[in-house]
Amino acid sequence: MTSSGTNEKFSRQVILPGVGAEGQAKWAQARVLLAGNGIALQAAAQALSSSGIAHTTVLIHEDFDPSFLVSAPRDLNVESIPLLEKMPLYTAALVVSPDHRLRKKLNRLFRENHQLAVFAWPAGSGYALFTSRYEKGCPCLECFEVLNPKAFSKGSPSVERLLGAMATSELLELILNGRSPVENKVWVTGLGSGASYKHEVMPTYKCPAKMIEEGAAVTP
Ligand SMILES: [Zn+2]
Repeated sequence: MTSSGTNEKFSRQVILPGVGAEGQAKWAQARVLLAGNGIALQAAAQALSSSGIAHTTVLIHEDFDPSFLVSAPRDLNVESIPLLEKMPLYTAALVVSPDHRLRKKLNRLFRENHQLAVFAWPAGSGYALFTSRYEKGCPCLECFEVLNPKAFSKGSPSVERLLGAMATSELLELILNGRSPVENKVWVTGLGSGASYKHEVMPTYKCPAKMIEEGAAVTP
């Protein structure tokens, strides 16, 4: 696509304060790793594509449904990568999945790489987001999980479209501004209660990702 075509297509968001041509260029140059399953993954792909994120790499993991690659938005320049022990570094990674094993696995890989990442999953009556660049390793997603196991694994699949869109919006802001006010926090939104709160995640010596890196034996 020519640059004038790009400008025309995204002209509506280019005129939004805080995006502009400069912000749009950041999105166009960003390389995003997208991981997840189901409706949340589709919603995130849709949001990435309509924002003008030009390069998206989709992670092919154990439970990945390959039909996603056929139905992915046409504008999304998608390539795929298998789950590797050592992943390449992306501008940002987006993980939208109810599968806590996948989130855990990716948390460990991203932690090692200091990979900027946004995670989203169904939690309670709503969903939760966790954003981190793993500057010091921990706090990481497992620091949260080990102390809040219930908030990590329960939720309703009906919120998947919403959490996919919300997580993408957080990722776009991160790419745009370089930082996020919710970094190292778990942001929980309950749709039943309407409550939304941000929970600061503190590094914990109980973190399995940290213990593994230090060579300790951890039950999976
Ligand atoms: Zn940790």
